[in-house]
Amino acid sequence: MNIDNMILQTPYLTLDEEFYNLTKSDPLEEPYLISFNPNAAKLINLDEESATDPLLVSLLNGTFIPKGASPFAMCYAGHQFGHYNPWLGDGRANNLGTLNGWNLQTKGSGETLYSRSADGRAAIRSSIREYLMSESMFHLGIATTRALGIIGSKTKIIRNTVENAAVVMRMSTSWVRFGTFEYFYYRREYDKLHSLAEYVIEESYPHLQSDEDRLLKMFCEVVDRTATLIAQWQGVGFNHGVMNTDNMSIAGLTIDYGPFAMMDDFNFGYICNCSDTVGRYSYAEQPNVAYWNLTMLAKALSPIISKDKMDKKLEEYGTSLYPNAYIDTMCKKIGLTQKLDSDAQLVEDLIVALHDAFVDYTLFFRTLSHYDGNREDLYDIAMDPIVIDKWLALYDKRLVFEEFTHEQRSSQMLQENPKYVLKNHMIQEAIVLAEDGDFSRVEQLLYLAAHPYDELPEFEHFAGDTPEEYKNIGLSCSS
Ligand code: AMP
Ligand code: MG
Repeated sequence: MNIDNMILQTPYLTLDEEFYNLTKSDPLEEPYLISFNPNAAKLINLDEESATDPLLVSLLNGTFIPKGASPFAMCYAGHQFGHYNPWLGDGRANNLGTLNGWNLQTKGSGETLYSRSADGRAAIRSSIREYLMSESMFHLGIATTRALGIIGSKTKIIRNTVENAAVVMRMSTSWVRFGTFEYFYYRREYDKLHSLAEYVIEESYPHLQSDEDRLLKMFCEVVDRTATLIAQWQGVGFNHGVMNTDNMSIAGLTIDYGPFAMMDDFNFGYICNCSDTVGRYSYAEQPNVAYWNLTMLAKALSPIISKDKMDKKLEEYGTSLYPNAYIDTMCKKIGLTQKLDSDAQLVEDLIVALHDAFVDYTLFFRTLSHYDGNREDLYDIAMDPIVIDKWLALYDKRLVFEEFTHEQRSSQMLQENPKYVLKNHMIQEAIVLAEDGDFSRVEQLLYLAAHPYDELPEFEHFAGDTPEEYKNIGLSCSS
């Protein structure tokens, strides 16, 4: 299929008018293509040749509207840093409609009813960050939105400095947020809460559609998916940075990439968002904040689902769902196949050791994947090898209970522990080049994002320790 033949549907517009606002695009000046993602194109059956189709830039710029599309912005509310904001919504995104189960959205496409005092635009740098990182997360096996492509322009926007505006076309199986439910709850529009829940079930939990108890089951599955998602974030060393309830997906996806970071040297309390002065959204707090966000969702759903039953499920999140998902994730990373009660302690000891050792999180697990009893390589990457040594002594004792040979364990661990993740300094270098008109690094990182577990000798320099000056820096929310 080519862009001209795309036919979209707009199921969201069957909801009441209060759920959205129809938008008109405000095109960027002198738009040009920065990158096209063929892996995302496949999901909507779009030909790879679309990369060179002039309509691609027009599609992203809103000057070509596909058949069946009807651009709209979605309305939602949300708790931002713990405070309820009744009026958020897509302030800079146009939803075009749905194709093959993917909801297409241009982010940075101009003001909407929900822009408040902001300009409806997105900077090149934040658009490239979202474009690349969402692809990386997908290939790391983590539920996420995707992105089809990105355009730059001559349109100027004011952030910390004057920057050029971009548009990234995002794709998601759902754009409904916890905050979408909060919007109707706080307005006491419970019939709309109900129709939204039915919409979400149809879109993201279709197997529940004919179940009498589908509303409660939907909530339970949101909790399950969120527990898994956060365990995976922790496992891969991802810090989202802005876990407001409007950035929490009802489908359990990673959405709204802002000041995120992949951990460099492991620091349990790492805060990637430099506006987050108290560390509400630090790496360490992510499982707790997800729980808090789920309690806000339960509150919003309380007029239509039994609060007691939701509370019971929430309790499970803390007592078993999240801890089990996390331990499972970590045990896979360290190559354990048998389950022992003592594994939770081994993982906790590992986290303490990594924190104390000043060792690159990704590099540690990749190096551990080759561990055959010789500890030199692991000592070499840690600032404090003594704590690593102590933990390895525990690990050696634990491996006795495993039936796998070293080779079997190693090949399994190499599929769990990525060689390549997109660290912020790598993305930043790609951004600097792109702002100068050189998009080659964006393409390289897009490739790298899609091959996290491969050995790629030509990209070896992307697999090492982060240069000291770039380690675990904080990022601004401005985007
Ligand atoms: P975020 O936490 O970045 O996902 O955004 C929080 C809210 O601010 C959302 O409602 C966004 O649509 C809105 N927003 C962020 N940046 C802009 C912008 N430049 N123009 C309009 N709305 C924006
Ligand atoms: Mg957001």
